[in-house]
Amino acid sequence: MKKNIASVHRARAPHMVGDGLPVRNVFSYTDLGKRELSPFLMLDYGMPSQFPPTEEILGVGMHPHRGFETVTIAFQGRLQHRDTAGNHGEIGPGDVQWMTAGSGVLHEELHAPAFRNSGGTLQMLQLWVNLPAALKMSAPKYQTLENSQIPVVEVGESAKVRVISGAFGETKGPADTFTPINLWDVQLSSGEISLTVSEGYTTAIFVMEGKVTINGVQEVGDSTLVVFEREGAEILISASEDARLIVLNGEPINEPVVGYGPFVMNTQEEIAQAMKDFSGGRFAGAKR
Ligand code: MN
Repeated sequence: MKKNIASVHRARAPHMVGDGLPVRNVFSYTDLGKRELSPFLMLDYGMPSQFPPTEEILGVGMHPHRGFETVTIAFQGRLQHRDTAGNHGEIGPGDVQWMTAGSGVLHEELHAPAFRNSGGTLQMLQLWVNLPAALKMSAPKYQTLENSQIPVVEVGESAKVRVISGAFGETKGPADTFTPINLWDVQLSSGEISLTVSEGYTTAIFVMEGKVTINGVQEVGDSTLVVFEREGAEILISASEDARLIVLNGEPINEPVVGYGPFVMNTQEEIAQAMKDFSGGRFAGAKR
């Protein structure tokens, strides 16, 4: 059964996260991410941006998170991550970093030293994935998924699907998730692809680059999010030029979302507790 479009949303105007991550916000937990797109809370698109070589340390310095996961996909350039749970790593083109903040960590998200030295184009995306109430205080965790570990399914002549989490047909993605999530990175050259998603799950497609036609009826340009109805499983996407799409398909968590900046919990009391624990130095490894 065909899956119909529920709504279409253009990414907001660019703003700078920290001093080195220019992004366009696509949705957040104050709008579509509060309920409609559960378990997805927020999506920032770091559109291609040029940086000259520099010795300056650019990015976002140490800041806290609690109650959810941050998923960063690098397309161009290199980012470096370090957190107070003792995890660190670098991601470059095609790599994905899946960080579980859980009960709380502080982390920094910076341009990697090699990228600072060379300068160049940075293009990335950050998705926030919610955790169910019972798992929000899980121990922090960190997964670096290298490009080479992420399977690519070729569909026909014109489409490639990178399976980051969940499954695409029989092919499974490497990310461990707390709730069922299919996260695909789809590259389409002139041609079409039919996607079968899990029915009943939240489904949204972020058209990152290029222009596509969905279900033969709706033309969608770049930097645009298409949200689908829960019913139906089949989405037909056609492109007359190169296009890149991020497909979000996840089982909804039907619980209240109360967010404040980098904390996303279920109640105001839990937000107040998060702020108290953060300022009291009770996040993983945090000494303040
Ligand atoms: Mn962060």
